[in-house]
Amino acid sequence: MDCIFCKIANKEISSNIIFEDDKIIAFHDINPQAPYHILVLPKKHIETLLDLKEEDKELIGHIYLIINKIAKDLKFEQRGYRVVVNCKEEAGQTIFHLHFHVLAGRTMEWPPG
Ligand code: 5GP
Ligand code: ZN
Repeated sequence: MDCIFCKIANKEISSNIIFEDDKIIAFHDINPQAPYHILVLPKKHIETLLDLKEEDKELIGHIYLIINKIAKDLKFEQRGYRVVVNCKEEAGQTIFHLHFHVLAGRTMEWPPG
């Protein structure tokens, strides 16, 4: 399968990894939109948020707990951070392997663009 995030998860493409275990990987976004811009994703290929299955419930909870751990490790948990998932084209999804953007280190606008 020609998926850039599967290749990053398999180490066929290098990335700046922050955290990894058997189920997920987190690394710095190549084109950061904030002082901290981290992508957290399941190693398993899931195309979009809409493709989640009952069996993925634990995986998604795990991702959020690891996001909190990363926030504490990188010390932006006190100031705050934003977690974004773009689901399909109109929301801005460009890579069709589910990923969670973690943005921090600046004041965020609302509503988002
Ligand atoms: P999306 O637009 O699908 O929500 O987010 C895709 C994200 O992946 C973008 O923020 C983009 O900068 C990032 N990205 C695309 N290709 C690469 C890559 O090869 N390495 C890394 N680290 N990030 C990437
Ligand atoms: Zn993939």
